[in-house]
Amino acid sequence: MAFIIANWKMNPQKASEAKALFEAVSSAAKRLNNIEVAVCPPFCFLPFLKPKKNILTGGQDLFWELQGAYTGEISGKMLKDLECDYVIIGHSERRLNAGETNEIINAKLQAALKSDLKPILCVGEKQGEELGPVIAGQLEAGLKNISKNQLRDIAIAYEPIWAISSGLGTGNPCKPDEALSAALFIRKILTNLYGRYLAEKIKIAYGGSVDASNVGSYLQNNQIGGLLVGGASLDADEFRKLLEKVNDLQI
Ligand code: PEP
Repeated sequence: MAFIIANWKMNPQKASEAKALFEAVSSAAKRLNNIEVAVCPPFCFLPFLKPKKNILTGGQDLFWELQGAYTGEISGKMLKDLECDYVIIGHSERRLNAGETNEIINAKLQAALKSDLKPILCVGEKQGEELGPVIAGQLEAGLKNISKNQLRDIAIAYEPIWAISSGLGTGNPCKPDEALSAALFIRKILTNLYGRYLAEKIKIAYGGSVDASNVGSYLQNNQIGGLLVGGASLDADEFRKLLEKVNDLQI
């Protein structure tokens, strides 16, 4: 079953628009049996978006402490109470705009797991950076003190920063064979850290300028089992087509 994470980022601007988009995604997804979708809206819309069947919800971030005097922050338990199953951690926009380090990301992973959420750990290199040392460093430091048992609940999203469609990216999609070799590299690092058996079971998603026209090319291998979609998840029609194409691949 392919999993698709919709990262709405700081969109849309109104609760009514968020509800309409979620409704459109839900009615498309409920007819499809081979996909699981996790919609990650801005926090303020979560109370209006009720997960059902194969359409779940997640946070775009959380704080590393579980509760207390942390103005402006959101805890894992709050997300759980709003029926979230997932939380995105270490997205490049948070690493770069909010100064999140691998140590912070590691603390957020621990907080998510303590809150019974499934973390989606984002890793990826900037334009001009060498993939190997960046991804290895992000995984080794990000997963510090995460046990084998905990790793089972974590998915890794490979998102080359340069391939993201807006904001910090160039919008030039990553070639499918580059995404595949990044996924193989991620599994190699996970094998070094946790052993081959577990490393092969971990879900790896690709993200960066994915839309209905290119989606199939990223999933035609047995290494990438999911997608993290930004811009295309805000267009109900485009996203419905994308979900249908992924569903037809029968992963
Ligand atoms: C993202 O930022 O996580 C992302 C994948 O964005 P887009 O699909 O718009 O490139």
